Amino acid sequence: MTSATARAPGRVNLIGDHTDYNGGLCLPFAIPLGTTTTARARGDDRVRVRSTAYDDVWTGRLGDLTLGARDGMPAWVRYVAGVLWAARADGWRLPGLDLLIDSDLPSGAGLSSSAALECSVAVAVAALVDRPLDPGSRPGLAELCRRAENDFVGAPTGGLDQLASLLSTEDHGLLVDFADTSTRQVPLPLREAGLVVLVIDTGTSHDLADASSGYAQRRAECDAAAAALGLPRLGLAWADDLSRLTDEVQQARARHVLSESTRVEDAVAAVADADWERLGSVLTASHASLARDFAASTDELDLAVATAVEAGALGARLTGGGFGGSAIALAPRERVDAVRLAVGTAFAAEGHAAPSFVEVLPSAGAAVLDQA
Ligand code: ADP
Ligand code: MG
Repeated sequence: MTSATARAPGRVNLIGDHTDYNGGLCLPFAIPLGTTTTARARGDDRVRVRSTAYDDVWTGRLGDLTLGARDGMPAWVRYVAGVLWAARADGWRLPGLDLLIDSDLPSGAGLSSSAALECSVAVAVAALVDRPLDPGSRPGLAELCRRAENDFVGAPTGGLDQLASLLSTEDHGLLVDFADTSTRQVPLPLREAGLVVLVIDTGTSHDLADASSGYAQRRAECDAAAAALGLPRLGLAWADDLSRLTDEVQQARARHVLSESTRVEDAVAAVADADWERLGSVLTASHASLARDFAASTDELDLAVATAVEAGALGARLTGGGFGGSAIALAPRERVDAVRLAVGTAFAAEGHAAPSFVEVLPSAGAAVLDQA
């Protein structure tokens, strides 16, 4: 193979926020927006990376794909170089590469442009060097991309995004149990039920790779709460354990993590019963927990959620970690325009920048588009 093109989608996390790194449950699905990478093999050991989202072209050598060389790279290049670094660590034999990246995903909006980027690079390069891409190989590929983001980029994210991008299938949610990273396809016939998920991008971006970010702080607080309980991860705690936490902040964080996994189970049950009203209520309850106990919301996200529900959405919540980014609203197709209008009007009234909207339904995971 001399060239391969792959596309990997972004995702919406329907429910289950901040559960991944705590060993709990979540239910994401892939969206139609995504990132495309074309990988071409070169005859030398050079690596050239270009993204239509940035002006510069990064040029290095295969030998530069080391943790030591990381600091000299532009921040966005680290997501790409990290995948090549992790692949080489796993024994992939890589030629020199030209990588061309193009995306229709907003970056930093909570729709996982970072995982879409990593996964599109991983799948394109895997196709190029003839690595397996069947469903059984994909959890390993997701793990490789997670290592790129955690260990090379330095963003302490939990692996949900990469699994969703690589394993999702159309009209299904991907139930992930981070106790053992097992996954199950859950039929999610929103289209058939006349529903859509409206993504409300508040335009306030979050930077998950920033060590001082709210995301990194919450992760540290959860680790501290687990340590106080003598557990490796909070997801292993029982509800009874909460009263053993003497630190109020840790107790609140733990209460969110444990109740959120229960809400994911409730959501899966509501979907199985086609009880969409109940699904909506569970989503809104998740937002309340993220805002109150996890302190991960913002004024814009709270306003988007409250206004969407008032305007006729069945439920709404922040998605993708919070601290800015996007909210989602589950709404009957015929009410979506009213929800958009109400949220836009409320943002203007509060002096917030105009939000942007995308309607999504559960879509297919990453795929090779072309190879030669
Ligand atoms: P999210 O994944 O929610 O969009 P992150 O902070 O995790 O937010 O990732 C956003 C970062 O990913 C960007 O700041 C940029 O470094 C990188 N990135 C995303 N999309 C692209 C792209 N098309 N080209 C280059 N880098 C990208
Ligand atoms: Mg990300």
